Amino acid sequence: MDRVDCIVIGAGVVGLAIARRLAQAGREVIVLEAADAIGTVTSSRNSEVIHAGIYYAAGSLMAKLCVAGKHQLYEYCRERGIPNSNCGKLIVATRPEEMNKLAAIKAHAEANGVADLQMLSGDEARALEPALACEAALLSPSTGIIDSHSYMLSLRGEAETAGAAFAFLAPFARGRVTPEGFEIEVGGDAPMTLGCDLLVNAAGLSATMIARLLEGMPLDLIPPAYLAKGCYFSCNVKAPFARLIYPVPEPGGLGVHLTLDLAGQARFGPDVEWVDRIDYEVDPARGERFYPAIRRYWPSLPDGALMPSYSGIRPKIVPPAVATQDFMIQGPQLHGIPGLVNLFGIESPGLTSSLAIADHVADVAGLGS
Ligand SMILES: Cc1cc2nc3c(=O)[nH]c(=O)nc-3n(C[C@H](O)[C@H](O)[C@H](O)COP(=O)(O)OP(=O)(O)OC[C@H]3O[C@@H](n4cnc5c(N)ncnc54)[C@H](O)[C@@H]3O)c2cc1C
Repeated sequence: MDRVDCIVIGAGVVGLAIARRLAQAGREVIVLEAADAIGTVTSSRNSEVIHAGIYYAAGSLMAKLCVAGKHQLYEYCRERGIPNSNCGKLIVATRPEEMNKLAAIKAHAEANGVADLQMLSGDEARALEPALACEAALLSPSTGIIDSHSYMLSLRGEAETAGAAFAFLAPFARGRVTPEGFEIEVGGDAPMTLGCDLLVNAAGLSATMIARLLEGMPLDLIPPAYLAKGCYFSCNVKAPFARLIYPVPEPGGLGVHLTLDLAGQARFGPDVEWVDRIDYEVDPARGERFYPAIRRYWPSLPDGALMPSYSGIRPKIVPPAVATQDFMIQGPQLHGIPGLVNLFGIESPGLTSSLAIADHVADVAGLGS
């Protein structure tokens, strides 16, 4: 049996950031990826928004890693020329009764270390975005967008430069905890068994299943898995906005918001649909609910402008009745298995937080800085 120092399972944006971090810390790293390329699952089915860190529960890992990760990500992009835009976002109150919610959001954001939100009157918001209908708005200057594929290619390149190796079409099949570390069976066309000292489970939607297939992992520490699908609709006319537009959040979601890609093309969503299986079809009928929601802040959205686009699936570890979840990153302090780090529930803002998650994993694994 061949032995390596570290195995990272999953080459999504989070696994890539972790592989880079560990390789740059001098560890010998192999990344096992079930697909034939990097970032083909949730990491290529998201909004590509660099989130400010506004809404997450105070003191949560999401709040901490999003705010830290946002700063790291902008700096990373600046230093390497990764396409991104610090375009900003407006959270809009479209009814008078929503206006006091903006003040509450601002106070919550400040508790999370996001101190730059600016309260705007309706007229001030329209001075920035003339097509906008709203009573008042909060401007988040640190929100932005990123070309996530360029970012992932860069992470892979830097991981490889630091010595990491990538094995594609190499799914983790099962494993067990041994006195020396871990024994991992890799499936696919070239099955093999590998030993390692450090095992990082960054398999996104499959992370809970992989933990169950690791003999020796306490089953009672593995959270349940749920799937929350989010569908996007694109727009066949040019949306007249330069910033991302979000309604005041409603119970259960962020509302139908408008995000932009780096070419200025608008998309709406994602909505929330709890599903039993992974299926990325977008039902055109879901778009009917989008029109009235969007017209509250963009009244001149033309009939027939919305086109079904793509979807992504959030790896949930709490059921629908629970309003919020946090990232769950389990290290030896929690499960007692030296060298094992499990990442569960890495939904949004996982892209924004990826560099900070990688630092956190290094800490949890006892590698420090
Ligand atoms: C609809 C939606 C919108 C989002 N929008 C944003 C946003 O705007 N901003 C933001 O910051 N975040 C956003 N996110 C969150 C972000 O996309 C995720 O947090 C991030 O992509 C998770 O990356 P990951 O590497 O953990 O998972 P993934 O990208 O899913 O990667 C996991 C990898 O593991 C591999 N794998 C699975 N099983 C195995 C196995 N047995 N063996 C080997 N490999 C395996 C998979 O093939 C995959 O490549 C959004 C998420 C969704 C669903």
